[in-house]
Amino acid sequence: MQELWIATGNKGKLEEYKLTLAKVPEFKVFSQSDLPYFTPKPENGTTFLENARIKAKSVKAMKTDHWVLGEDSGLEVDSLGNLPGIHSARYAGANARDSENVAKLLKMMQIRSGPNRAAQFKCVSVVITPQGEEWVFEGLMKGVVNAKASGLMGFGYDPVFMPDGETKTLAELGPGYKIQKSHRALALTQFLAKLKETNVLS
Ligand code: IMP
Repeated sequence: MQELWIATGNKGKLEEYKLTLAKVPEFKVFSQSDLPYFTPKPENGTTFLENARIKAKSVKAMKTDHWVLGEDSGLEVDSLGNLPGIHSARYAGANARDSENVAKLLKMMQIRSGPNRAAQFKCVSVVITPQGEEWVFEGLMKGVVNAKASGLMGFGYDPVFMPDGETKTLAELGPGYKIQKSHRALALTQFLAKLKETNVLS
């Protein structure tokens, strides 16, 4: 069994990874919360890729012989010039709760967006192999931002995001939907495909 370390402190993200990776018996999944001494590095990159790399490298420094996956993700709203983007977790301030970020988003869209409510979730993953090679994967999920929050599942902007083709928010659709179709799931699927291609998984 090989160890896969997910470089995140976000419980919602980790749950989604664990749900999918439960079907991959070759990997035992850990996260940075399993490290006794770990201080996250400042996420001072200017792109999803740079921030994902910062996260992956900070865990790799402590788990040099193992697989590490760092991920940066966020919501890009067309009419807000792709904000909140890489600032999604901190849109309403440094220690903002999800509900505060959602409230700020709805307020900004009320002021600026008019009828255009199109948005996309983006996820960029940086995987560092046990040998130190870097692999990059990206997943997108397009949809619209609903004018009011609805649903209790998930995290972040799930209560206001309706994927294209759906009439419910991600917080109503739930984890079963997200692990099939989300930006994160799409990036993870590419990683799993690459593991098969390189014969790490059968
Ligand atoms: P990160 O931990 O710096 O990558 O921040 C990601 C932030 O983007 C989260 O805190 C959420 O606000 C938002 N986000 C990313 N992925 C999702 C998702 O799947 N659902 C809802 N919000 C998300």
